[in-house]
Amino acid sequence: MSLAFECRMCGHCCHGEGGIVMSPRDQERLAAHLGIEVAALLSEYARPGSGKPSLRTGEDGYCVFFAEGQGCTVHPGRPDICRAWPYFRGNLIDSTSWEMIQDYCPGVNPAAGHAEFVRQGREYLRAHGLLRDDPAVDPNALILDRD
Ligand code: SF4
Ligand code: SF4
Repeated sequence: MSLAFECRMCGHCCHGEGGIVMSPRDQERLAAHLGIEVAALLSEYARPGSGKPSLRTGEDGYCVFFAEGQGCTVHPGRPDICRAWPYFRGNLIDSTSWEMIQDYCPGVNPAAGHAEFVRQGREYLRAHGLLRDDPAVDPNALILDRD
């Protein structure tokens, strides 16, 4: 059985605005990792605006916690959405999405096939507590247990 995904550390998934949504649990874990209060985390590192808070990016378009040559500088405290990629709901329920992310994420192994990607993804998400419990606050990209 081949691995459906193995990160190649290219950093593509740490690039882009607004995608790293943080649930209250994510905020608490990341703030604790940084040794600051949640309010300080949100004022310094979250995008302004209403809705679910998300991490802001730097001028280079990468997440504010991404460093060239180093990768994620808050790895133990990173949000669930970072832990779950590429096993996002869309990529699990739709094989076309899975095909499309292969250009973007070189860690996805096309040879494993979509069914195996789904099987390994669900197993990984369950084992790491990355299912969406509360749709009001959790990122939409995470699957619900019933999905
Ligand atoms: S895009 Fe894929 S291979 Fe690149 S860092 Fe993100 S998970 Fe790893
Ligand atoms: S928190 Fe870390 S893993 Fe998540 S987007 Fe930022 S740099 Fe990447």
